[in-house]
This record gives sequence, C-alpha cells and structure tokens, in this order.
Amino acid sequence: MDKRLDALIGKLAAERALSPEEYAELIETRTPEAASRLAELAVAERRRWYGDKVFTRGLIEISNFCRNDCYYCGIRRSNRAADRYRLTPEDILACCAEGYALGFRTFVLQGGEDGYYSDDVLCPLIGTMKERWPDCAVTLSLGERSRASYRRLFDAGADRYLLRHETADRSHYAALHPKELSWENRMDCLTALREIGYQVGCGFMVGSPGQTAAHLARDLTFIADFQPEMCGIGPFLPQKDTPFGQEPPGSGELTCFLLSVIRLIAPKVLLPATTALGTLDPLGREKGLLAGANVVMPNLSPVSVRRKYALYDNKICTGEESAQCRGCLDSRVKSVGYVLVNERGDAKGFPLGGSCHAKRD
Ligand code: SAH
Repeated sequence: MDKRLDALIGKLAAERALSPEEYAELIETRTPEAASRLAELAVAERRRWYGDKVFTRGLIEISNFCRNDCYYCGIRRSNRAADRYRLTPEDILACCAEGYALGFRTFVLQGGEDGYYSDDVLCPLIGTMKERWPDCAVTLSLGERSRASYRRLFDAGADRYLLRHETADRSHYAALHPKELSWENRMDCLTALREIGYQVGCGFMVGSPGQTAAHLARDLTFIADFQPEMCGIGPFLPQKDTPFGQEPPGSGELTCFLLSVIRLIAPKVLLPATTALGTLDPLGREKGLLAGANVVMPNLSPVSVRRKYALYDNKICTGEESAQCRGCLDSRVKSVGYVLVNERGDAKGFPLGGSCHAKRD
C-alpha cells in the first residue's frame, strides 16, 4: 500500500485519532486497499468489545409533522406534498407489543419536531413502556428540546437519545439549515443530554450538498473528542420535494470507509448500518457491518404510515410487516457471519453505576 496511507492508518490505529489535516488527507487519498485494511482493523476492534453480536432496535416513526425546515429533509415544514400523520400513545404501545414478541429489546421513538408530543404526553408513555417491558431500553430521537424537557424525559425512564449533530462545521451547518436553526444550539443539546446521563448518539450525513473532506475531518475530530455512545451515519439521499431534491446522493463506499474510521476512534461505539445505506445499495447494510457497524434499526412503524415518513426518496422496507423485516435482517446479518441478538445492547459501561438512571459525575 501507498506508504503515506499506510502511515496514516498505522497512526489512527495506534493513537485513536488524527489531526484534522490528516483525516482530510486520509479521506481524499483513500484507495480500495486502504479501505480493506481499515475495515479489517475496525472489525477486529468491534469483535474485541462485542464479539459477533449485532444489536437491533425497533424504530417507531411516531410523527412526520415537523416545525423545522431543514433543506435536505422530506418531512420539512414547507413540504406541502408530505402527507402528515402522527401516532397516538396507544398506537406506539401496540408497535412495542409487536416488537417485543419479535425479540426487540430497544424501542426507538423517532419523529419530526411535533409540538403534540409535549413532556406531558411523552412522560406517561415512556413510563408505561418501562412498566410493561422493564427489560427494554427506550431511545428517543425527537430533535432539539430544552434541557428541562430532556431531564423530565430521562426521569420518566428514557435511556438513550439520538441527535445527529449533522455536521461539526458551523458554516456547513448553515448551508444545510435555515437561519432559525443554530449549530450552537444543536451542540448545546448534545452536551445537555450527556450531562443528564443519557447514552448519547450523534452523527452526520455523508455527501450532503457542499460537504468537503475538511468538513468530514471536523466531524471525525468532534467524534474523537465527544466519544458518543452511539453514532449514526448514512449517505445523503435526495428527496424530490426539498431544496436539495436535484442534488446527487452521497457515496456508500465513503460511508463504509468512515464507519471503519469511527470504529477506530471510538472503539466501543454502537454504530448502525443505516437504512439510508441500505437504500443507496441493496447490500449496503451488509457492507456497513463488514466495515465495523454493529447495530441495525429495522422499522416497527405501522405499515400504513411507513411510506409517509419519507426523509428521502425510495426508502426501503416501507411495504413489509415488522415480522418480515426482522426475518429479512436476521438472514442478512447471518450472511456476513454475525448474529442478530435479542438484547438491550447498551454501550459498554452503561447502565451507569448499576442503575439505569444514576447521574453522571
Ligand atoms: N427530528 C429528529 C429526527 C431526524 S430524522 C432530529 O432532528 O433529530 C433522523 C436523521 O435522518 C436526521 O438527523 C438526518 O441526519 C437524516 N436525514 C434527514 N434527511 C435525510 C436525507 N435526505 N438523506 C439522508 N439522511 C437524511
């Protein structure tokens, strides 16, 4: 292999971090050979912490109403073509019951920023979930809220929170979002979640319009510093009714390369092979697992609403019943030599202090 690339990979494996310039160089000069070497190191690291296990999360898309207007997202406020829906707490509990029977031990409630889901609606729902399925983790992915709200939801029993930072570069953030959304607030939310005691997930899109290797280098530097418990990355995919509807999709190959890099800089991170990766490439999720990912997040939403949660075009798994999705993923995971397990799949070191809700120091 090219000597310089070999040296960068060696340094990454030994020191678990590179400088921003080095990350950018690694990305810009990468070769297929470098990608396989990184994947090999990443898979060894994943195996060291999690063996052959792949964890699964039942994703329940609770609402596609959103107050925000992110330029890339199909459920943005000004998309008049979106057919809006929201699930009631009863609908959500029915999804969980079905998911529990299928072996899911983590439920993820994801949605647009929909004012209907006040703390007064969510807290009793989370309480009921924890009461009915005490052996399950509850993950929220409901966007930016106040610190007080994050605290109430945590106290009600939520274990984890996914909030992709979207990009660690302030000016790139401003190119992807309208001005009322601020990069500082996004980052402050991540800090608040961490301080409250959640297992926290950040993440970004690969190949968002205008993204450069220098921007990605900032994402990697942020991840190395923040050491998230979870990290969601997937290719940007255009949605036709958004301002970015005519932009080209991100690269699956680069996404897998970055999954390997992230596994090396945050070895214990829970790293999903995302639906976006599976949408871009029919074997994308398998390739993600082979690059160092160890989580899959199949859809548990009622089939009647799945097509409506269209963040991007051509999303996969919008037609099948949850049980079919589970079976399909089971064989996909097996096909690359891993096992899909029915476990909560917490990050190493969690729950804190033996209790799910011990506060961090
Ligand atoms: N409203 C919640 C959940 C967002 S949806 C929040 O703000 O956190 C989850 C993720 O999907 C987003 O964070 C974004 O990174 C990703 N996403 C949105 N639109 C996308 C697109 N067009 N292509 C790929 N990923 C997209």
